[in-house]
Amino acid sequence: MYFSNIKRNVLVVDDEEINREILGGILEEHYNVLYAEDGKKAMSVIEEQGPLLSLVLLDLMMPVMDGFAVMEKMQEDVVYKNIPIIVLTSEESAEIESLKKGAADFIKKPYDMPEKIIARVKRIIALYEERMIIQSTERDELTGLLSRNYFYEYASLQDKFNPGRRMDAVTVNINHFHLYNELYGIPEGNKAIKKVADILRKYAEENDGIACRSEGDNFSLYLPHRDSYEDLAKEIRDGIYFAEDVYNTQIRLGINQQIDEDDRLEMAFDRARMAGDTIADKQNRFIAYYDSEMRKQQIFEERLIRDIANAIVKGEIKVMYQPKYDITKDAPALKGAEALVRWNHPEFGMLSPGSFISLFEENGMIQMMDRYVWQQAALQVKKWKDEFDVTIPISVNVSRIDIQDPDIVAELLQIVKDADVAPSDLHLEITESAYASDTKQLIETVDRFRKEGFVIEMDDFGSGYSSLNMLTSLPIDILKVDMRFVEDLLKDQKRMRMMELVVEIAEFLEVPVTVEGVEEKEQVDALKKLGVRMIQGYYFSKPVSEREFAYLIREA
Ligand code: C2E
Ligand code: CA
Ligand code: CA
Repeated sequence: MYFSNIKRNVLVVDDEEINREILGGILEEHYNVLYAEDGKKAMSVIEEQGPLLSLVLLDLMMPVMDGFAVMEKMQEDVVYKNIPIIVLTSEESAEIESLKKGAADFIKKPYDMPEKIIARVKRIIALYEERMIIQSTERDELTGLLSRNYFYEYASLQDKFNPGRRMDAVTVNINHFHLYNELYGIPEGNKAIKKVADILRKYAEENDGIACRSEGDNFSLYLPHRDSYEDLAKEIRDGIYFAEDVYNTQIRLGINQQIDEDDRLEMAFDRARMAGDTIADKQNRFIAYYDSEMRKQQIFEERLIRDIANAIVKGEIKVMYQPKYDITKDAPALKGAEALVRWNHPEFGMLSPGSFISLFEENGMIQMMDRYVWQQAALQVKKWKDEFDVTIPISVNVSRIDIQDPDIVAELLQIVKDADVAPSDLHLEITESAYASDTKQLIETVDRFRKEGFVIEMDDFGSGYSSLNMLTSLPIDILKVDMRFVEDLLKDQKRMRMMELVVEIAEFLEVPVTVEGVEEKEQVDALKKLGVRMIQGYYFSKPVSEREFAYLIREA
């Protein structure tokens, strides 16, 4: 692949002005020609241009520093030795020596027909550029597009030859492609991939850019800047829509139009992909642009990731407790608490879990944080026992990431042991959605927890993942109903009916029900009538500090 749209730099080195003029005249239409009249001047041009120089046309006999010396010097340098040299000579005898010193080809003096010279120059440059790139990579077999490494090399080569040209990074993904593969089989999946690849190749060619398949159903394009990519989205969608009956196939384009000159290309594409991922689950949105808002969010998140380990050591991670009340008797009784984490960040202030839990789940750091919260909670139960002579079990949140850790049961056992409390003093809240993924492993882990005496609460129940069928086989001790069911409980008949159903399901499973997000007295009364046992919510209290919680215990 030889990009003929690029005007490359070539250096003509000859001590005779007439020779420089002749060669320059031949090459100038296609190349950006630089000149030097001796070896020393040539070296300073080479040093200045570095890898931007595509070729040196080199006379041998020159004053000050001759052509052989230039070749030797270039061979010594890692960058310059990749710049091809064509020796200009009238003596056949010099050829062997030149080859030994690294010359790629010869042009005979007096000069041949201009077309021949141009063809030779072009061939040598193409050869060297191709060699450089092929050294590291290949093409993607399935699609014939550039492979990932090749792509980045070519992209930076393009940048090199077009300094200052504004480029865009574009990523293309097929949503839920693994499902497509499962539904239609791998051969059909491959067909769809090829189809997309063909569309992208054509688009890249027409728009003076390059395209690659980075992996699976991920594609990248590097294109001269344009304002809109609606046309590309449309072409792909039209193109794969007719392919079999992919009635549901949606694509997402992530576009980064803000590439700084010193951004690494990989990073520029990561950002494009990040933008694309924001619409992964959005119907009828196919394009997302990386913008300053996302940039801010990204910097914020990078900062949080950097700071979290120290934050724990510095005591910035605070655990708050939200009380749970038993409403089965005449007067509500304080019977539990949920530990909820807060981060008092020195720069961003008090952060709620919404801004960092999913981030830390993504990179596994959640484990470190959760472990800290569990320890604090266990110690807290112990303090209340000692200080008030009551046992108030604390529910801690257990992320699905935590559960994948094979040592988790042992670790939690160690935590309760170290705090000198019983496993039953900790309730483990596992969100319903965790039960939907990798069910077998989760059930095994939960079984082991229960055998050790921990109490398992299914959190956010009803948020829409588990089937009734699945529920009957799940090892749980308490159903904790998702907050949404409480909203409009009294204003909407349907909501009330839903809540009734949830309570009936719990009765069928023979587990008690906890409802969270309860804010009003009337809600408490209605839930009590339905047979709900425990309530957590602003009606009783927001999550409070250890100190404030002590008041609640004294009051009780
Ligand atoms: P969740 O486990 O469903 O926690 C309940 C959330 O509802 C808490 O929000 C709580 O403050 C809030 N809430 C409680 N009562 C009411 C009410 O009456 N009205 C309203 N509007 N909200 C109420 P928070 O503390 O912001 O926590 C959000 C989520 O973050 C939690 O949802 C939980 O999934 C997660 N989370 C909190 N702490 C931890 C932790 O230590 N580890 C892990 N893995 N996740 C945590
Ligand atoms: Ca929870
Ligand atoms: Ca919840």
